[in-house]
Amino acid sequence: SSQNEHCIGCGVTIQTDKPGELGYTPRSALEKEEIICQRCFRLRHYNEVQDVELSDQDFLDILHTLGKTNSLVVKIIDIFDFNGSWIPGLHRFVGKNPVLLIGNKVDLLPKSTNKNKLINWMKLQAKELGLIPVDVLLVSAEKGLGIQEALVEIDRIRQGKDVYVVGCTNVGKSTFINRVIKTAAGGDDVITTSHVPGTTLDMIEIPLDDGKSLVDTPGIINHHQMAHYVSKKDLKVITPKKEIKPRVYQLNENQTLFFGGLARFDYIKGGRRSVICYLANSIEIHRTKLEKADQLYEKHAGEMLQPPSRDELQKFPELVRHEFKLKSDKMDIVFSGLGWVTVKEQGAHVAAYAPKGVSVLLRPSLI
Ligand code: GDP
Repeated sequence: SSQNEHCIGCGVTIQTDKPGELGYTPRSALEKEEIICQRCFRLRHYNEVQDVELSDQDFLDILHTLGKTNSLVVKIIDIFDFNGSWIPGLHRFVGKNPVLLIGNKVDLLPKSTNKNKLINWMKLQAKELGLIPVDVLLVSAEKGLGIQEALVEIDRIRQGKDVYVVGCTNVGKSTFINRVIKTAAGGDDVITTSHVPGTTLDMIEIPLDDGKSLVDTPGIINHHQMAHYVSKKDLKVITPKKEIKPRVYQLNENQTLFFGGLARFDYIKGGRRSVICYLANSIEIHRTKLEKADQLYEKHAGEMLQPPSRDELQKFPELVRHEFKLKSDKMDIVFSGLGWVTVKEQGAHVAAYAPKGVSVLLRPSLI
């Protein structure tokens, strides 16, 4: 039929063209008497949440909703992409509600990382960005690390209130929620999730012991991350899957490092020194002389310097140069969503190149 169909679960308008977006249903499912979107289907039958993409306005509406609740807000960030997965201004929306900050994907950081130092670093960064969390935790939703502890902590600080879980897309929020569902259900008991009534924003409610709920809110897309500029295939290469092996380079002045063909780091001045690269192990690093770098990129981007691959080079944005003179010790130059380069002693003069639209920023070293 040509008229709009609605999901019997959440009421969203059904569409069959865009998998992963709100209201998606496979065409074959339209023959059924009662039409249910794929998201509700999975929720009902598998107790499993899927993330949908949202417009910025939808997300603002969700944030406004948070401010009107009396709840605990759990904010999840991707520790590998701290700044890229930060939700700016969340503190202004949450009102008086406490915020618990959870850093996910801790399994990606080198095992030697000092966790207490990292937590203090997160507290400091959060404060600079305007948020004072009640607590900061580290977890790996995928590996199941720290999940039990996080649940205990959430239960302690929520003091009988509902819990709202927020985060950008790709921070691992669905993985986290699905872990929580499994852990809380403790095996056999099936806990039944449901949509929050009266919202079209696809919030999902997970019942807690005391009749309160843990609510999963949809994630927002951060447009300044590398993920939006590469193909699905290349995204697999740039997304770290395993513990990152720090790669140390002894650099002379006027030397350049290429990170595949995605980004570039020029060491301009400051004497011979070492820098440490934290990127997915699958990204190749090429070192060259600064004076030869432009030419090398021109000639070899898409081939020796990849990703992006040759056929994707056409669509790939030009590299934009960002120059920094480092005035403090131990700074990270961050390529949003790709990784970072740590420069230990102050006084280095460097340039970082990233595709147009991708954020490059300077921060005190995370590790
Ligand atoms: P969402 O968009 O926030 O719901 O994120 P997903 O749960 O879909 O996860 C996004 C990506 O991050 C997927 O490729 C996951 O496999 C990955 N991921 C999630 N949690 C972890 C984790 O703890 N460690 C690692 N290394 N990857 C994770």
